[in-house]
Amino acid sequence: MCGIIGYIGQEQAAPILLDGLKRLEYRGFDSAGVAVRDQAGRIRVVKSCGKLSELSEKINGGRSVFGFCGIGHTRWATHGEPSLVNSHPHVSSDGAVTLVHNGIIENHAELKAMLSQKGYSFLSDTDTEVAANLLACYYERFGEPEFAIAETMKTLRGSFAFGIMFEDDKHTVYAAAKESPLVIGGADDGYYMASDVSAILSHTRRVYYLDNMQLAAVKSDGICFFDAELSPVNKECVEITWDANAAEKCGYEHFLIKEIEEQPRAVSDTLKHYIRDGEIDLSDVGITDEQIKGLERIYMIACGSAYHVAEVARYGREKIAKIPVDTEVA
Ligand code: GLU
Repeated sequence: MCGIIGYIGQEQAAPILLDGLKRLEYRGFDSAGVAVRDQAGRIRVVKSCGKLSELSEKINGGRSVFGFCGIGHTRWATHGEPSLVNSHPHVSSDGAVTLVHNGIIENHAELKAMLSQKGYSFLSDTDTEVAANLLACYYERFGEPEFAIAETMKTLRGSFAFGIMFEDDKHTVYAAAKESPLVIGGADDGYYMASDVSAILSHTRRVYYLDNMQLAAVKSDGICFFDAELSPVNKECVEITWDANAAEKCGYEHFLIKEIEEQPRAVSDTLKHYIRDGEIDLSDVGITDEQIKGLERIYMIACGSAYHVAEVARYGREKIAKIPVDTEVA
């Protein structure tokens, strides 16, 4: 899960987006991209695979992309290989919706089949493009961005933080989140959105954290929050007192202790996608109980710390499942 940045205001958006992505770089990523709306309302998408400097070079540090509103993304691939076509932002096949996404859409396969039948097409292998087309489909049906987003949030299974632009809604950027962090900050020149507060801290210290299943309509001069039933939500503005360095580490002294402290949440976030009504459910993984029972040997392929974890896990697995387990350095 990687980085999201968004901006709407009085300044040229692209350099701000690039700067925000740079600040999210420490999280690691395989590709990056931005989408900026120009003065005429057209949305231009620019992407690159690899280093952020490549993206920056393509658009002359953002200076050659005009417009005051946009979204950006650094991707850590979960569905579809790291490649230009799979990198974000993704655009729905009818061009109505452009979006960036952090997280995983679990029911992407069934939704893709349904959307293909309705005539939507797909260029990438990502779960994200399914969300873009689903939004477009609901937008076509309801005609209101907020309705389309709320319906999409309720239809998608999994976790997501979205930054969204609608082709014909020229004065708004939308944010939506479920089980993924997204923060919106207000400054004198406009509003900023990011998956991590450290990305916008050089612009503002007044932020709103989007809670689970909430969405926001962000304009250059104001912001409205809603829950998934579209009831308005009054959110408290939080004043960040840490400096940018500390914010990257969420107040922890260094990254190591932050990552140690985050382990319970990381484990629970990983497991909860595979637990439904208290039972393990691997239907999204595509492995049946019969296939699991038929396993004769398990290989765990990993590198670095993950390899050492696999070495330890191997003993537990052999003891409980009574199946031989091998580990390999990836
Ligand atoms: N699941 C999405 C993808 O594979 C988003 C990954 C991310 O959070 O960077 O494109």
